[in-house]
Amino acid sequence: MWIDLRSDTVTLPTPAMKQAMLNAPLGDDVYGEDPSVNALQEYAAELFGMEAALFCPSGTMTNQIALRLHLQPGDEVICDRLAHIYNYECGGIALNAHASVRLIDSINGKITPEQIAANINPSDVHYPITRLVALENTLNKAGGICYKVKEIEPIVQLCRQRGLALHLDGARLFNALVANGEQPSQYGQLFDTISVCLSKGLGAPVGSLLLGKKEHIHKARRIRKAMGGGMRQAGMLAAAGLYALKHHVTRLAEDHHRAAKIAHLLAQCDYVSEILPVETNIIVFKLHSQRYQPEVFCQLLKQRGILANPFAGGVRFVTHLGFDDLQLEKVLNVLKVLENEHLA
Ligand SMILES: *Cc1c(COP(=O)(O)O)cnc(C)c1O
Repeated sequence: MWIDLRSDTVTLPTPAMKQAMLNAPLGDDVYGEDPSVNALQEYAAELFGMEAALFCPSGTMTNQIALRLHLQPGDEVICDRLAHIYNYECGGIALNAHASVRLIDSINGKITPEQIAANINPSDVHYPITRLVALENTLNKAGGICYKVKEIEPIVQLCRQRGLALHLDGARLFNALVANGEQPSQYGQLFDTISVCLSKGLGAPVGSLLLGKKEHIHKARRIRKAMGGGMRQAGMLAAAGLYALKHHVTRLAEDHHRAAKIAHLLAQCDYVSEILPVETNIIVFKLHSQRYQPEVFCQLLKQRGILANPFAGGVRFVTHLGFDDLQLEKVLNVLKVLENEHLA
């Protein structure tokens, strides 16, 4: 059995989750008639204190629908240079929203209201119209670092003053909530739209939710259909998502705890040159190039039963519900052993 630290997307549904899937009442969701999909959407909307929610096949789709909702062709979205919507969604900002993007270099994984303000275009015919700010929490490429509500509030204020919409890529928002001891309802008040993944650390096999005002979600249904994301008896998947929201949120603290233990050990390893601050379930670290190249390091891990990916010039580990204390011990041992490995 592999120890798989490549991503929290590798999680498999638990027996109890599978049971919930088997028991799910079903209908045709394109007609709005799948009771399990409706139950998930209503539960999530209420959890966040938002008007409505839409169940979609992926987080890429929920983000891309949000971009389409907020942006007209030629408009500009402001986001972090590290943002998933910019780096990992196949150019969707251009492809789906026909929009322009202004990238900001975050400071320790966070963009500030001052940086945003400095990047809002003046109303001059030469410039794209700045229409949207998109944040990501937790920020994957910065090592799962998270904004706190109080850091987001001034950004919300600025967006309201300047008439900008605000979207959150909250693929791992529940990790941030658990790490900061915050509530989903606090986020519902801050953002126009929120995307959350059910298939990451929450452990559902498929699916993401887009949350927002009724008016937005009504339009989002049409965009989802146009993207080919209208699903029929999707209730079995929705039931897994609902199970995840009810049972797999508080346990994220365990993933964070295990990630912290790995980071603690890595900090003592001579071959590690840098570790990004570990606040949630992601560990991104760099290696001294005279010791290990990231690809070689991942090869050596693989020979010892551990899967990990080279990432952003270093290596990334992601902890999740398929990674337990026994596996943690094994990983810590292997990381220690690699300290003494001498490459030919
Ligand atoms: C995984 C992820 C997404 C998109 O998820 P998919 O379901 O794989 O399309 C979006 N944003 C972030 C930050 C992610 O980590």
